[in-house]
Amino acid sequence: MEQENRGPAFAIETLGCKVNQYESSYFFEVLEQAGYRPVSFRERADIYIIHSCAVTAKAGAQTRQLLRRARRANPDARIVVAGCYAQLEADRIAREELATHILGNPDKFALIDWLNRPGSFERPCMAIEPASGAHPFPMADKARSGNGKPAGGPVGFEISPVSRMHTGRARAVVKIQDGCDCFCSYCVVPLVRGRSRSLAPAFVLAQLRDLLKAGYREIVVTGIHLGKWGKDLLPAQSLTDLLEEIASSSLRPPRLRLSSIEPEEFDSRLLELVSAAPWICRHFHIPLQSADPEILSRMGRSYSPGYYEDLVLRLHAAFPEAAIGADVIAGFPGESEKQFENTRKFIEKLPLSYLHVFPFSPRPGAAAAEFSDRVHPDAIKRRAALLQSLGRQKRRTFRQSLIGQRLEVLAQAEERPGLWEGISGNYVKVFFRPRKPLCHGEPVVVEVNGFRGEDLEGTVVAGE
Ligand code: SF4
Repeated sequence: MEQENRGPAFAIETLGCKVNQYESSYFFEVLEQAGYRPVSFRERADIYIIHSCAVTAKAGAQTRQLLRRARRANPDARIVVAGCYAQLEADRIAREELATHILGNPDKFALIDWLNRPGSFERPCMAIEPASGAHPFPMADKARSGNGKPAGGPVGFEISPVSRMHTGRARAVVKIQDGCDCFCSYCVVPLVRGRSRSLAPAFVLAQLRDLLKAGYREIVVTGIHLGKWGKDLLPAQSLTDLLEEIASSSLRPPRLRLSSIEPEEFDSRLLELVSAAPWICRHFHIPLQSADPEILSRMGRSYSPGYYEDLVLRLHAAFPEAAIGADVIAGFPGESEKQFENTRKFIEKLPLSYLHVFPFSPRPGAAAAEFSDRVHPDAIKRRAALLQSLGRQKRRTFRQSLIGQRLEVLAQAEERPGLWEGISGNYVKVFFRPRKPLCHGEPVVVEVNGFRGEDLEGTVVAGE
């Protein structure tokens, strides 16, 4: 009979990107293996971990809010803030007495050791090294043990990334790259995550092997600047090289989803490879940010609206059923009404399927925070609202175009008895009623016959 785990209870709340999600699953693993007991963030815990995000002012505010909530839930708990916002605003967090342990990106992987160090709201335990200091993949901690830092920490990838945190889910995330060298003027990521670093192909394949053995049918390959994967390796390689290696190996997953790729990195070689690889999901997320040439150059972006348009039209022509999503910033300093209209009209005419809209917020240390010609907050709000409504239209139009089509979806969760939701290759949530019991991750083919709220629903035609 499995011994009930009565160890100290921990709860993790993760903000931000898929890389943060992946790293949180790592925290989950090492804590469980160290005898800690997972509880939900709504429950009383002995340790609360907020894995933070610093991309927008809103993400920073959400981090502080979660820290306060955790303290209210259990004032005697160890409250850990880890990751990008901790790296960016450790002093403020300490000044406002929001956490007992403040761990930056380089040190957060040695979580267990830092937890064993004393820390209080008045005198928090702080570990904030320069972002490029440590290798972003846990195995590096082994090498660092000699330098006075907590020795060892989690050791390499013996710790399989498959944990109960993933079990039962249809899709697994694999982080293959961290950091960024671009310094777009609105972005703090290079400051908090450091320079671009890649996970060697052998380790990527090792993770794929473990996840496929665990029964995952979809692997989401992610990074902070995914398109830069391999550039820092010796010899230098590209993301397309890695995908080719996966394609020719026995470790090719039934579905591989690429997370965000910068426009200039979606080159013709990658397009060719994806065209010949039906197992790569027809879902492309390509940040746009603005479609006004002057604003793009002030952002430090290295493509033109024409280049972006050409790329989206080529993708749409090659994969008419594909979801093509874009990030866009509303109200970047100096953006006139006319320049905003350039972006709005540009997006309106393109076959995009959804938008992630970011109201501009100055980030400490990013160049644009010093730009004096700020747009009025009301105008930022209004422009963001216009783009969000345009995004909803795009999302609806894309889903409308799938009605009557057959989609293979991976069963993700039983919404209620007899009603399941699944995710399609082109990133659409589809509800369906299976004719027999299903397990998570099982593929079924559904004929889409209409909307269910903002999502789709259909009838199972094959697979289960
Ligand atoms: S490419 Fe630009 S926006 Fe993206 S992480 Fe790097 S600096 Fe930030």
